[in-house]
Amino acid sequence: MDSKIAMDLTALTIDQIRDLLASRKATALELTEAHFARIEQKDKDVRAYLSLCSERAREQARNIDRKVAAGEPLGLLAGVPVAVKDVILARGTRATCASRILENYVAPYDATAVRRLEEAGAIILGKTNCDEFAMGSSTENSGFYPTHNPNDLTRVPGGSSGGSAAAVAANLAIVSLGSDTGGSIRQPAALCGIAGMMGTYGRVSRFGLVAFASSLDHIGPFGRSVRDVARVLQVIAGRDPKDSTSADIPVPDYVQALDAGAPGLKVGVPSEYFKGLNPETGDNIQKGIDLFGKLGCSVVPISLPHTDYAIACYYIICTAEASSNLARYDGVRYGFRSPEHDDLRDMYKKTRDRGFGPEVKRRIMLGTHVLSSGYYDAYYLKAQKVRTLITRDFLEAFDDVDVIVTPTSPLPAFKIGEKVDDPLQMYLADIYTVTASLAGIPGISVPCGRTKCEPHLPVGMQLLAKHFDEARLLQVAQAFEKAGGFEVA
Ligand code: GLN
Repeated sequence: MDSKIAMDLTALTIDQIRDLLASRKATALELTEAHFARIEQKDKDVRAYLSLCSERAREQARNIDRKVAAGEPLGLLAGVPVAVKDVILARGTRATCASRILENYVAPYDATAVRRLEEAGAIILGKTNCDEFAMGSSTENSGFYPTHNPNDLTRVPGGSSGGSAAAVAANLAIVSLGSDTGGSIRQPAALCGIAGMMGTYGRVSRFGLVAFASSLDHIGPFGRSVRDVARVLQVIAGRDPKDSTSADIPVPDYVQALDAGAPGLKVGVPSEYFKGLNPETGDNIQKGIDLFGKLGCSVVPISLPHTDYAIACYYIICTAEASSNLARYDGVRYGFRSPEHDDLRDMYKKTRDRGFGPEVKRRIMLGTHVLSSGYYDAYYLKAQKVRTLITRDFLEAFDDVDVIVTPTSPLPAFKIGEKVDDPLQMYLADIYTVTASLAGIPGISVPCGRTKCEPHLPVGMQLLAKHFDEARLLQVAQAFEKAGGFEVA
């Protein structure tokens, strides 16, 4: 009993939770309550959550405890408290996408990723804050409130999955789900000092993920260690008949692949990814690259020549797709409807005017413009061609190297409010993450030390691999994490 009191049930790894349950040193309900107690205490400052699923979580916890008592087999994530980004549906709970237009929208079904988590025994604690419809890099575009970085509450946690990253970094969940369209898992992982991964496009079902840009959207995990990330990916990856773009390729054993180290591997460092890099971030990344040498890898310079076009290409394609995907919020089928209006057209207009925030409106207008007749060839079609060139850059590079390493973000967490009035500045901060999204290759961000100056902010290293090479990516990421002593848990 004493050891139970001394043990912090919110600072555990998935493996530790499994051992605690098996040895009956803690129950799933105790783990759940410990998290709710910490959320109650800390989340008024961090503001990672938009809503909690207390009843659902407790019911699931009791379920797990019953199974433990009966000696029944437990799932891979039994008793693991999880946070879920509010763009991912969990039946019977609100899914606002951090937008006023969906303020009262209750999900009628579970996303496949959520269903798989629960079937594996995970406990969904609640839904996390993000940029509205996942559009942004700081979580300041939330229609409700910004989330604060647990490393320094005056700073942003990154975005758009800032709530999911902050929840894990502040021990308000063991692991979490985010979505990544152009960096929204990897960048907040970097800014909060944890690991975050986007699998190959099609590796994880998007069923139940509210669409932003369908050809770029992914669901993926955050964790305080690469091992936890691997454990969650293991559960959520795989073919889903409900998402025709999910890949019918067997899911390897990611966890088993982890401990192989990285000797003899070839690591590519693209010269294009060091322009405009904050010097402190650059120092950490350089030290990180040196670590690969110590791991027995050969580090080779490579070139991804079309990198300069990636931001323009991404912001044309993602806005085009967003303008189409967001047409469904018309005040008839979903969520908010403006109460005063003259006729149907006026109702559409007022609903969308009041329901959407400024960044979402900006993207709908941009997207409508690049798709409009007369501009389509110059913008959208051109961007699709550039996307192919960017993908080819990666495929050619992977003929020669096993993984590519880059900074995740050009700068560490910035102050809340610092960039909010300058959308272009905010877009440019996505420079290192949008390329992998456009190419559809998997990427992970892992901690890579902290800046020298106060308040010693986390820096993230991005590792990229070829399509469906997640096992290799996780293996190298874990070797890097161990070599640098970067595990948080
Ligand atoms: N920051 C990028 C954007 O604003 C990426 C967002 C995302 O990955 N969802 O579009």
